Amino acid sequence: MTPHPVPETGAAVKAADRAHVFHSWSAQELIDPLAVAGAQGSYFWDYDGNRYLDFTSGLVYTNIGYQHPKVVAAIQEQAARMTTFAPAFAVEARSEAARLIAERTPGDLDRIFFTNGGADAVEHAVRMARLHTGRPKVLSAYRSYHGGTQQAVNLTGDPRRWPSDSGTAGVVHFWAPYLYRSRFYAETEEQECARALEHLETTIAFEGPATVAAIVLETIPGTAGIMVPPSGYLAGVRALCDTYGIVFVLDEVMAGFGRTGEWFAADLFDVVPDLMTFAKGVNSGYVPLGGVAISPAVAETFARRPYPGGLTYSGHPLACAAAVATIRAMDEEGVVAHAARLGAEVVGPALRELAGRHPSVGEVRGTGMFWAVELVRDRETREPLVPYNASGEAAAPTAAFAAAAKAHGVWPFVNMNRTHVVPPCNITEPELKEGLAALDAALTAADEYT
Ligand code: PMP
Repeated sequence: MTPHPVPETGAAVKAADRAHVFHSWSAQELIDPLAVAGAQGSYFWDYDGNRYLDFTSGLVYTNIGYQHPKVVAAIQEQAARMTTFAPAFAVEARSEAARLIAERTPGDLDRIFFTNGGADAVEHAVRMARLHTGRPKVLSAYRSYHGGTQQAVNLTGDPRRWPSDSGTAGVVHFWAPYLYRSRFYAETEEQECARALEHLETTIAFEGPATVAAIVLETIPGTAGIMVPPSGYLAGVRALCDTYGIVFVLDEVMAGFGRTGEWFAADLFDVVPDLMTFAKGVNSGYVPLGGVAISPAVAETFARRPYPGGLTYSGHPLACAAAVATIRAMDEEGVVAHAARLGAEVVGPALRELAGRHPSVGEVRGTGMFWAVELVRDRETREPLVPYNASGEAAAPTAAFAAAAKAHGVWPFVNMNRTHVVPPCNITEPELKEGLAALDAALTAADEYT
C-alpha cells in the first residue's frame, strides 16, 4: 500500500468540491471535507501523505474494507460481460445475489426485492406492509435512523427528521429499550425489557390495533447509539405483532451482513421478522445496493396482484455481482466469525479497560464490530459530554476528541455524545489494537471536559 501524495492534485480536488458539490446533511459553507487520495483495506490517505485507520467503515458499510481484490475483480468481470440490464429480466448476477442473500437471511425470508440503498428499502418495506394489512399507520422508535427519503426520514427518530417531517405520514414513535438512559425508570435489563414491551403494547392499544400496519425497528439501533436490546425484547415485539396482525419490519441496513458477528443481528436474538431491510454491507457499498427480504406470507399478497412499486436500477447487475463476490469472500475468509471473535476478545475487553481509566466514558456496549462508547461530563449524573444535537461551540468536547484521534492516525465515528468503534469486519487484530490505543489517547482529550 503506497500512498501517492500529490498535494497540488488534492488542492484541485478540494477546490472543485467546494465550488460544485452539495453535501448531505451539511451547512455547505461550514464544512471542510478531507480530499481523499486512496484507500486500501482498513486504511485511507489524503494527498498530503496522512494515512488514517478507518474506524467508521465509511458510513458503517465497508464491512470487508476498501478495494477487496475479489470484489473489484468481480465488478470488472461483470462490467465486461453485462454492465446493466433492466429489472424485468432474469439476470445471472441478480438471481445469484438473491439466492445467496435468501440463504443467509433468518427463517423463511426467501424473496428479495432489490433497491438502490437503505432508505428506499425502508420505503418499500412500509408500502408492502400497508398493502398486505390494508392498514395505514406505522410505529417506529425514537433514537432511530431509517434513511433520508421522505417516508424513511419520517420514521427516523433523531433530529434529522425535524426539518422535513410532514407530520401526515401515519408514523407514531415509541420508546425502545435503552437501559443507560431508561425512559421507564428501570434498573435492570429485565425491567427495561418488560416495561418497554408494556409501553409498546399500550401504544398499539391507544392507536387502535386495526390501524397499525407495521412496527419498524432497527434490530440494534445503529446511528442512534448501538443500543443492544435486552434479551427477550425483540421476541416480545414479535409476539405483539402476531397478536395484533402487525407486520414486523427489522431494519438491518447497518447491523446486517456480519457487522454484529452474525450474518444478521436478528440471529443474535433468534427472531424472524416478516420483512427485513438491508443495504451497506451487502456488497460493502462498492456499488449502491439495498433491498427487502420478504416472508412467504407477505410475498403471497403480491402473487396474483402486481406489487405497485419499482426502481429502474432494481437488482443492478454490477451491484449484484459485487454482492455475490462480497458474500463469497466473507464465507471464504471467515469474516463473520472473525468479527465475532475480535468483538468479544479484543474490542469489548479493551473498551471496558478504557472505561475504567477515563472519566469521560459513561458506558460501552456492543457486539462484533459494532460498539459504542458513550461520553459523559459526569459519570454519576450521566450528563452527556455534549448536549443532545449539539453543534458548533457546544460540540467542542467531541470535536477535541475527534481531532486527537485523527492526530493519532485514526478516523473516528462521532455522533452526538458518542464515538462508535465500527471498523471493517475483516480488520486485522494488530490494526484493531493500534486503533484502540489511539482511542485511549483521544479519550484523554475528552477527559479535559469532565
Ligand atoms: N436504515 C438504517 C438502519 C441505516 O443505518 C441507514 C443509513 N445509515 C439507512 C436505513 C439509510 O440507508 P441509505 O443511506 O443507504 O439510504
